[in-house]
Amino acid sequence: MWGFCLCMQVSRVSLFDPLAQHVYNGLMRQSTLFSKTRKEAPKDEVSRNAQLLIRAGYIHKEMAGAYVYLPLGLTVLENIKRIVREEMNAIGGQELLMTTLQRKELWEKTDRWDDEKVDVWFKSQLAAGGEVGFGWSHEEPISDMMRSYIASYRDLPIYGYQFQTKLRNELRAKSGIMRGREFVMKDMYSYARTTEEHETFYNSVIAAYLRAYDRLGVGDRTFLTFSSGGAFTEFSHEFQTITDAGEDVVYLDRAKKLAINKEVFTEAVLAKLGVNKSDVEEVKAAEVGNIFSFGDVKSKQLDVYYRDEKGEQQPVILGSYGFGVSRMMGVIAEVFADEKGLVWPESIAPHKYHLVSLPGGDDAAKITALADTVYETLRAKGVTVLYDDRDLRAGEKFADSDLMGMPYRIVVGKKSVADGVLEVVNRKDGTVALKKLEELT
Ligand code: ATP
Ligand code: MG
Repeated sequence: MWGFCLCMQVSRVSLFDPLAQHVYNGLMRQSTLFSKTRKEAPKDEVSRNAQLLIRAGYIHKEMAGAYVYLPLGLTVLENIKRIVREEMNAIGGQELLMTTLQRKELWEKTDRWDDEKVDVWFKSQLAAGGEVGFGWSHEEPISDMMRSYIASYRDLPIYGYQFQTKLRNELRAKSGIMRGREFVMKDMYSYARTTEEHETFYNSVIAAYLRAYDRLGVGDRTFLTFSSGGAFTEFSHEFQTITDAGEDVVYLDRAKKLAINKEVFTEAVLAKLGVNKSDVEEVKAAEVGNIFSFGDVKSKQLDVYYRDEKGEQQPVILGSYGFGVSRMMGVIAEVFADEKGLVWPESIAPHKYHLVSLPGGDDAAKITALADTVYETLRAKGVTVLYDDRDLRAGEKFADSDLMGMPYRIVVGKKSVADGVLEVVNRKDGTVALKKLEELT
């Protein structure tokens, strides 16, 4: 990665590019961007998020449920990861990276190897003999690994997390990057001494997730949702973002800021949560996170014990916390897009500004010179900018800029050359502000 950056940067800008810390991808002159906008999405692509992301040059469809993240798309994905990573680190998370290849024996211990029990496994044969699975989740391997690092109460608690490409043999993959057969998840696993220690951490994860959704721009439409619990607890908690593109149905109590998944929407559950049936509304939503308590069930299956202060063996209390990183990108694309194209929140946009120079006849050279100055000045200040320096008609450039969805468009044309004033258009609401270059940084 670094080696690659080095040779790219040497010829273009100084090695100490101030933007290197701010953006994942350094290339910002649109004339050199290999991904191009397209008028049409592939015919077999039915989801709106993938149609728009493909047309705008963010992703490329390899096959149903498998998409390439192109430079612009990768930058968005990395920006989402950065926010999630900061929130996980803030509550004590330690990042690691597990393997994709998984051992059959391990998953047999928890009775999750069988295709009848888990219906999304991809599996293969080793040339050397024996079967392997491809990671659709990592609870089993990380918990087994932790046995090497957990001996006494002094070694706990541990909160480990990763960003992984999960592989799942999903039956249907018609929701674009919202349901991939290959997708990026952040998964965290907690190892605590006691139920109290576990619960304190579990609640801090809820708070961290809610902060992350706020920062991603979807806080006001993302709700903590009570869902089916599984082996140990009555409920698990999902985070559901309201969108018609979602595959779930939830019942929302806006005043109480919570939702109940249709799966568990019963009189008994309503009573338990103190929710009135008349106060809820039925909405479609996408599950963007899901967190579970496993208690000591999994630890007992996988033999994860620690010695307490009295020297007695105790099972470790386990929690698991998933966050759908690539699904989140698809959901954000869906909920903010308008008839012209994508609209990115500033926190994850590949670039804050889309600088567009217009053709100018006699003034063309002056316009180019001014646009170059704006570009270099913003870059030097560490502001991210995509520079549409292509020789195209204004209409084409504006249409592309709308489709690609940077938060602000800076237009440099004849007028700017005359009075030094730049037109800054807000992609979300179309409002126009007139600014001097100094005011932009
Ligand atoms: P779903 O019910 O949507 O199939 P799940 O409950 O099987 O999801 P988890 O195992 O809880 O998913 O995974 C954690 C998170 O990963 C989910 O909350 C979701 O945001 C994301 N996720 C799950 N499956 C996919 C997928 N096929 N493509 C993209 N993201 C996914
Ligand atoms: Mg789930």
